[in-house]
Amino acid sequence: MTPSIKEINFDLEDKNLFQVSDLQLKAEALRNYTLPKLKIIANELISRIDFLYDINYHEHCSTAFSPHFRTSKNQRKEPVKRDYTYCGYSLTGQRKPGKWHGLDKGTGKLPEIAPANLSINLSEEGMLSYFHFNYPSGFTAETYEKFFKFLIDHLAVFNGLFHRSKFSYVFQYIDAIDIEEDLVGKFNNSDYDIILTSRTFEYPISSEQIEELMLSHVLLFPLFHCFIKISLGEQPEIEPYIDAIKSRLQEYDERYGIETTGGVQGVGGEEEDMADILDKASLKIKVAPGLRWQVFARDNWKCVACGRRSEDDIILHTDHILPRSKGGKDELDNYQTLCNICNIGKSNKDSTDLRKR
Ligand SMILES: [Zn+2]
Repeated sequence: MTPSIKEINFDLEDKNLFQVSDLQLKAEALRNYTLPKLKIIANELISRIDFLYDINYHEHCSTAFSPHFRTSKNQRKEPVKRDYTYCGYSLTGQRKPGKWHGLDKGTGKLPEIAPANLSINLSEEGMLSYFHFNYPSGFTAETYEKFFKFLIDHLAVFNGLFHRSKFSYVFQYIDAIDIEEDLVGKFNNSDYDIILTSRTFEYPISSEQIEELMLSHVLLFPLFHCFIKISLGEQPEIEPYIDAIKSRLQEYDERYGIETTGGVQGVGGEEEDMADILDKASLKIKVAPGLRWQVFARDNWKCVACGRRSEDDIILHTDHILPRSKGGKDELDNYQTLCNICNIGKSNKDSTDLRKR
């Protein structure tokens, strides 16, 4: 039972993790807890993209996660020396030799090619979304020019999409240039990146804010996918994507129960707002800073009741053994690690120590 996207949020303890000085704990938490949550977002996003644009995302694209922990079970566990300052996922082109056209064969970078990324990053500052088309990806100057020409030719359409995604996206270049005046014909493959960034959502990051970031990716997807098509040697057309947005975004809203089109929100929703605020307040005081990670680490990053780990498509939760309402303390001894499934099973019982002894 994969957790619902509505269960995903990032609170002050998620921020705390980036401040933790124990590098081993931080790496294990990113691997066993934070990245699996981002993976749920990425998978949900791809299913929505497939739905809205009626495509098969996995035909040419894949997802990449950062940091990428390569660990073999046979390998001795090495102590972590790196201080991870962020983690994130990217929608990206498949890294396959021979997949992409218009490459500069001399660079020897063929297997590393990922023509463009659509990413969400989480750091101490918060969460942000960005599109990145980067040098050096190993394309020829002619191919680079095709990317830029396509962007410039459709700038009005893309500006509309950036606006629609409720984000003010900012173009960044390694060198500052006037995109329309200076770019056409002058672009060469050694000087420029295209980076479009959203504003940063600060902690606590609600599931509604994650919805907004996801919507921004859904609406930026045409840009990403057209770059993928150029990389395949095709001549992409923007119209089918725009038609899909026009005709199906309403359906998307209904299907995923979100508000993407209207500007007015929360009419008559005052009671819900209050419940929401109380929920968030209780979330904040649920465990003292750092305690969540101590609980997970002690329980070996798995559910004490069923033994599931994040690889089994669950999210880990910390659970009071004796509830606070019955005098249970916010101390390490009064917490256990449960998966989302066992946590729901337990929610109506008063105090249950599910640890297998
Ligand atoms: Zn469980």
